[in-house]
Amino acid sequence: MVKVSITATHDGGNVEFVSHSEPVVLTTTPDDDRRNDDGVYTEYIIFHPNGGRVLHIIIHDEYFADVHTELENVGHMQYFSFRSFVSGLVPPEPQPAAAAAVDDDDDAGGGPTIVVPSASVVVVTYVIANASDASFPDAWPGSTVCYNSHGIDSSYDDRWRRNLTTEYDVDDSGALTWTHVHEMNGSTYFSYWPPYGYDRHLRLISDCTSRMRSGRVGGTYNPAIESIGTSLDGREIECLSVGNGKLNAWIQHRQHPGETMAEFFAEGLLHRLFGVGEENGDIDDATRTLLEGYRLHVIPNVNPDGSVLGHLRTNAAGANLNREWADTNVEGYQYAAPTSHRSPEVLAILRRMDEIGCDFFLDVHGDETIPYVFFSGCAKTPVWGDRIRSLHGYFVEGYKRANPDVQKVYGYPPPLSEENALDGMTRATKHVSNRFNCLGLTLEIPYKDCATNPDPEVGLGLERCKRLGSNLVEALVRVHPYLRAEGDFWKAFSEEDEYIVPTDRFPGRQRG
Ligand SMILES: [Zn+2]
Repeated sequence: MVKVSITATHDGGNVEFVSHSEPVVLTTTPDDDRRNDDGVYTEYIIFHPNGGRVLHIIIHDEYFADVHTELENVGHMQYFSFRSFVSGLVPPEPQPAAAAAVDDDDDAGGGPTIVVPSASVVVVTYVIANASDASFPDAWPGSTVCYNSHGIDSSYDDRWRRNLTTEYDVDDSGALTWTHVHEMNGSTYFSYWPPYGYDRHLRLISDCTSRMRSGRVGGTYNPAIESIGTSLDGREIECLSVGNGKLNAWIQHRQHPGETMAEFFAEGLLHRLFGVGEENGDIDDATRTLLEGYRLHVIPNVNPDGSVLGHLRTNAAGANLNREWADTNVEGYQYAAPTSHRSPEVLAILRRMDEIGCDFFLDVHGDETIPYVFFSGCAKTPVWGDRIRSLHGYFVEGYKRANPDVQKVYGYPPPLSEENALDGMTRATKHVSNRFNCLGLTLEIPYKDCATNPDPEVGLGLERCKRLGSNLVEALVRVHPYLRAEGDFWKAFSEEDEYIVPTDRFPGRQRG
């Protein structure tokens, strides 16, 4: 008997099974992906030379909302990750000629009836029934679900693919639907973006820590690891520091825990800084130059509780940490932040930053809607002037030269006015940049396929995401002479280095 079970008990898993259809035995058909009036696949072309039986089943899931966020009056959701476990499939066998003859005599109409109780393939249509309740439903058109039938640990990073049947029913059901052909027993993981579990987080910390003792970076570049505080549920907020330079650069990830790409970025960066995966922990020349000019402070996961819980944007108490960096007095939306009871993660980071100082800040995120890698900054906030605007342009141009996935044309348009910009001062980048009068940027990595270098079946993928993290080295080395330079240094920058005002009117944009 074929069994398909849905579980979400791994870190970041957050989907519950609701119901399923009666399984239907399919005949192979020459018509590719036909659908019924409800838009559900009723037949799916399966090539099975040995006459194995193909079952089709529709499974309805819903994902849980994050803890209610009082300040925004919303239960955020969009990120999902679950495991589908198939058992009972048997290898296909040749059909006995006699059985086929009996089937053909069946005059009940509707074609041959297949009565064998076993199946060698099960075709499952997955339906996330409440997708339209997501925080950013406009992002679903053009999104494709990631899957991996091998596993979710790092040995299978290159096995993630995208399901190109993914569709969002914008007009009617509001469901996100895709069909997967399971040809083997075992697990397939489906995720909005590949999960980065807490086990892998701990492994990242251990790999870097062991290089502090044995790698080239140890003894030369003064590596250190510290817990700068704990989350509400008691997990450490680890910060890895390395380098002998005078400038302090802070790089943080996963304030929004469902933006898992941010921690893959962190892994790419940290592996390069600490020589993880290199013989004897060797580090390259550009990294040495970096560590002679800076001391880096890297926080791979600001929000470990939300990550384990599978939240999109919030911590264990429902706080959107990227709205917790300062008090706000916006009409109808007044609160003090950060606080030990709602956002101790931010409180801890800011305290440590005040002790150490900050000359460069990068906050790494993922974006649901815009299919590009892009930066946003502090446009129209008080710190924004010739100096910061020019540094922003110069830094991004350097990143673009180091990594072909970076572009400057598409991104968030700046706030409409200086007054509007002040509403954003509860966000990390704007707050830190203004607090320390330094260059601060937010990096956004797309959930969708990256339109700069499209690869529909893989998307940006984990390897390119990690490479993006490692190329922060080149971008930081290039901007180093100017971060705290005096005078009108930007007047010597070239035209290519100028800040470009980004637009979100990307080609093919669909508006909900
Ligand atoms: Zn984010």
